[in-house]
Amino acid sequence: MTTTYGQAVLDWLASQRPAMLALLEEFVNTDSGSYDKAGVDAVGERIRGFLDRQGIVHDTVANDRFGDVVRATVGQGANTSILLMGHRDTVFPKGEAGRRRFRIENGRAYGPGVADMKAGLVMNAFVLAAFQKFGGAPALLVGLFTSDEEIGSPACRRIIEAEARRARAVFNSEPGRPTGNVVNGRKGGVFMKMEITGKAAHSGGNFSDGISAIEELARKVIALHAITDLTRGTTVNVGLISGGQTVNTVAPWAKCEIDLRYVTPSDREDAMGKITRIVETAHVPGTSAKFEIAGEFKPLVETPDSKRLFEHYASCASDVGLKVEGEFTGGCADSGFTAAVGTPTICAVGPVGGKAHTPDEYLVVDSLVPRAQTLALAVARLT
Ligand SMILES: [Zn+2]
Repeated sequence: MTTTYGQAVLDWLASQRPAMLALLEEFVNTDSGSYDKAGVDAVGERIRGFLDRQGIVHDTVANDRFGDVVRATVGQGANTSILLMGHRDTVFPKGEAGRRRFRIENGRAYGPGVADMKAGLVMNAFVLAAFQKFGGAPALLVGLFTSDEEIGSPACRRIIEAEARRARAVFNSEPGRPTGNVVNGRKGGVFMKMEITGKAAHSGGNFSDGISAIEELARKVIALHAITDLTRGTTVNVGLISGGQTVNTVAPWAKCEIDLRYVTPSDREDAMGKITRIVETAHVPGTSAKFEIAGEFKPLVETPDSKRLFEHYASCASDVGLKVEGEFTGGCADSGFTAAVGTPTICAVGPVGGKAHTPDEYLVVDSLVPRAQTLALAVARLT
């Protein structure tokens, strides 16, 4: 099935299943919401402990606001590297890990972030350990354990892009799709905040003096949603609104948060142009509006190089008995940043799971070892 060298690595990874599950249990039972720096760093501490026990070199890039980045390296290489990525933060509030402890039932593991993406972190850690133990990485192997993906990677984006620039390939260990497929295309996303200013007036005694920011917001929301073009893959969703002072006051202010998803960079330009015009056009005379980009993910656009990387990965998967195809998804991830700097990237190479961001999130326990074996082969055979 593989070379002798490869077989030793595969056998070792297979023997590590109980240890993988034990580490996963520790990660899942540690709260690590994106804004919970202490929690995200606690997961980082456990990763550092694992790396130390394996004799893997690592360093930490400190961050004041969000979790620190843990960066592990195995082997050597002057000019080029292979990057394994994963984020330690989850979307869940503090206390969730106490309420929903890690558990396994009928072959599925449960708990906050179990698939998205604590199982991916475990997998990356063990793949790094396999190369530390057996050697054989064709370039410097870098494991990046980041801290803020679920909120658009405000702190880690630059570090991810810098690592990706010197990498010949990026494997992002987001959860494999429920089908077992990986992701070779993702939409880009722009998260915006808009604020509208009107003029307060008593709605009974002084109605005509007022300028309703809420009415302007309502009109803008309809115009924004009309940008959606499902055939093109462009969607605009106003997911949050607020505004007004009291029921008997013409609303002096209103605001909203806007989520744009798109497929290609030119789709982004088109949609952003339309959004800008909607913001600048007042339907209710006397209102004014401003908006800002609060966060952004780049799309994962397939290139000939990333297609080759996917085919390489799929052939390694087939050698460990997995059938893997590529899928497109509207969800965003850090893989968009690495693809945008031009580095061949495949995403969702992590263990298989589903229902991410919900209490029903699950991990297919039996996928842990074969996905780790596939990744190890894909790294070892990368030319
Ligand atoms: Zn994720």
